[in-house]
Amino acid sequence: MNIPSVFLDRCRTFLSEPDMERLLGGIQSPRVTAFRPNPLLSGAAAEPGVLPDADLWSELADGGLRFHRAPWDDQAAWVSAEDRQALLESAAAREGRLYVQSLSSQLPVPILDPQPGERFLDLAAAPGSKTLQLAARVPGAHIAAVEVVKKRMYKLKDNLTMHGAGHVKIFLQDGTKVWRYRPDHFDRVLIDAPCSSEGRFQVDDPDTMAWWSPRKVKEMVRKQRRLLYSALRAVRPGGIVVYSTCAISPEENEAVVQSQLDAFEGQVTIEPIEWPVDMPERIPALTSWKNTDFDAGMAGCLRILPSERMEGFFVCRLRRGD
Ligand code: SAM
Repeated sequence: MNIPSVFLDRCRTFLSEPDMERLLGGIQSPRVTAFRPNPLLSGAAAEPGVLPDADLWSELADGGLRFHRAPWDDQAAWVSAEDRQALLESAAAREGRLYVQSLSSQLPVPILDPQPGERFLDLAAAPGSKTLQLAARVPGAHIAAVEVVKKRMYKLKDNLTMHGAGHVKIFLQDGTKVWRYRPDHFDRVLIDAPCSSEGRFQVDDPDTMAWWSPRKVKEMVRKQRRLLYSALRAVRPGGIVVYSTCAISPEENEAVVQSQLDAFEGQVTIEPIEWPVDMPERIPALTSWKNTDFDAGMAGCLRILPSERMEGFFVCRLRRGD
C-alpha cells in the first residue's frame, strides 16, 4: 500500500523539504524493536527514581543479543528488526523482566517526572505500557488508570497484573468525565490520547495506514480536546499534565493544546521540555500553522520525526496555575 497522498500533502504544509525526506525515509524503513527493563518483576526493589538494571543488560549481552542503549535514557534500548525474534525469545522477555515499548512511547513518563508520594492519573491507559513505566518509577504509588473500551480495559488489567503492577486502580470509564468525579485531585496526569496514529505508519505494514483519513483526524481532535480538558480539571492547582500522541497532524497536537490554553484563559502554561537533547529525530513543535499563531511556548513541546528507530510522536508538558 502506498502512503496516503493526502497525508503527505498535509505534511508538506508544515515540514521543510529535508524533514519531509526524513519522514519518508522513516516510514519506508523497517523499524527497530525497542524495550526497557521492567524492575517490577526483576526482584530488585527499586529505590525511588532509581531502576536497577545492570544485571539485565549483562544477561542479554551474555546471551549473545545484539542491542543498543539509547544515549538519552539509561532505561531505553533497542534491537534491529532482524534481532526482534531473538529478543522476544529471551528468558527476560518471556518472564516479563523486560518490556517491549517503542522509544517514542517511552518519552512521556520521564517528562511527567513522577515523584514518590504523589497521586497519578493515566487517563487513556490501555494496553498499559506507560502505566507500567510509571509504576516502575514510583513503586507503590497511588495510580489510577482509566480506559473506556471494555475489551481494552481487560487487556490493561491482564498486562498490569502480568508485569507486576497489580496495585494500580483500574477504572472502566469515559476519561472525558473523570474531572467531574475527581476535580483538582491528582498531582500529575498523563493523557496519551487516542489519535490517528500517523506516527506509526510503515510501508511494510499496510495495516498501519489502512484506516487513516482526514475525517479520522477530525474525529480524534474532538476526543483529544475533551480528554485534555478533563485532565486539566482533574489535576490539582499547580499540578502537571503531560499530553502526548503518536500523530503528526498539527490539528491533533499543537492545535489541541492551543484550544485548552485558550479555554483555561491563562490558568495553564506550557513548560519547556529540556530533555532529550541528543536525539536527532527531535524537531521543534510549531508556533504557527496555516495563518494561525500558537502560544510561543509551543516551541518547547517535543515533536519526533519518524525514523528507523522512532515512531512519529508529540509530547507537551503543561502546568495548571496555583
Ligand atoms: N497509554 C497507552 C499505552 O501506553 O499503552 C496507549 C493509549 S492509546 C494511544 C489510547 C487509549 O485511549 C485507547 O486504549 C482507547 O481505547 C482509549 N480511549 C479512547 N477514548 C477514551 C476515553 N474517552 N476515555 C478513556 N480512554 C479512552
